[in-house]
Amino acid sequence: MAHASGRHFLQIPGPTNVPGRVLRAMAAPTIDHRGPEFAELARQVLAGVGRLCGTTRPVALYPSSGTGAWEAALVNTLSPGDRVLAFDTGHFATLWSRMAAALGLTVDLVPGDWRQGVDPGHVEARLSADAGHEIKAVTIVQNETSTGAASPIQLIREAMDRAAHPALLIVDTISSLGSVEYQHDEWGVDVTVWCSQKGMMLPPGLGLNAISAKALGASRRARLPRSYWDWQPMLDAAATGLFPYTPATNLLFGLREALALFDEEGLPAVFARHARHAEATRRAVRGWGLDIVCRNPDHYSSTLTGVLVPDGHDADLVRTVILERYNMSLGAGLGRLATRAFRIGHLGHLGDLELAGTLCGVEMGLAQAGVPITRDGVTAALDYLGPAA
Ligand SMILES: *Cc1c(COP(=O)(O)O)cnc(C)c1O
Repeated sequence: MAHASGRHFLQIPGPTNVPGRVLRAMAAPTIDHRGPEFAELARQVLAGVGRLCGTTRPVALYPSSGTGAWEAALVNTLSPGDRVLAFDTGHFATLWSRMAAALGLTVDLVPGDWRQGVDPGHVEARLSADAGHEIKAVTIVQNETSTGAASPIQLIREAMDRAAHPALLIVDTISSLGSVEYQHDEWGVDVTVWCSQKGMMLPPGLGLNAISAKALGASRRARLPRSYWDWQPMLDAAATGLFPYTPATNLLFGLREALALFDEEGLPAVFARHARHAEATRRAVRGWGLDIVCRNPDHYSSTLTGVLVPDGHDADLVRTVILERYNMSLGAGLGRLATRAFRIGHLGHLGDLELAGTLCGVEMGLAQAGVPITRDGVTAALDYLGPAA
């Protein structure tokens, strides 16, 4: 590819743009992970990630991708043959349920159309029908990154309580934590799973689990084999600053800086910015005359928007044109949405003009790829982002 002048636009829904301050914080000499300086770093970042997800309890932090943090949540809480209730809301929910099956769990996967989140009524109905309490855990992807549909975690918790069912609630917040409101303790979530490279504004390489007292109790009885992912030695780190094996030291330097950025902007402002950028993006999609993958407005994602291309057109061609002409990466359609949809990431470190530039690139690329659109998308987004006085 010829050299492209200007900055690359990384508008996939993770990994996301890493702020310069975070990059510079990581460009420091690696320190002794058993020394006093590291213990102070560990103490700071572990407290910070707890605040971010709304827990006062210790958090397990692994050198891993999000997939590792998925596995940690399952192997620490469940035993071979245990039933898990999962919902086929998209590609990531499918992958996670396949992992559960591969680990020897019995998965009840409720089918879905990949165009909305989980209906709390379905959770209640399934759990109410399980009088013998065979189901040991409910797994939910809060923000399905393959579609741009979110599931209402608080309402799902209430549905579980109405069914008076003791199953654990395990939530993947990988592409939502740090971008939308989330309260692990207050909402009664048992395990929250996330990682570094999406809303956290970091490169890939850190996986996290927040753990309720009930989940920790379950871990004492759980019999799935675990070693690397064992919570207990990780939780001991929260007390001592000593990890059971080498942590991703330089990513933790970056994490400390990212947490400072969250504090400086303020979480309510961060969440409002994401909601605003998502609304501007949806207005652009409607301005082009295209369909948003998520068709339930209550479930719209604040962090990414999935866009369907009309029949007979190829979303991958659109992405190729945009990459080659405008040096911008967009998310591909995944699984059953392959070639039919593309995804615009609008999470993490992003300002109004960067979003506007992103939408300009999409509008031009759609037209150049021959997709029939009306050229009103960018105008609609700008009218919303910066209305006339
Ligand atoms: C990205 C993502 C994953 C997978 O994370 P990896 O870091 O690629 O292992 C899982 N779930 C969701 C919702 C995601 O967005």
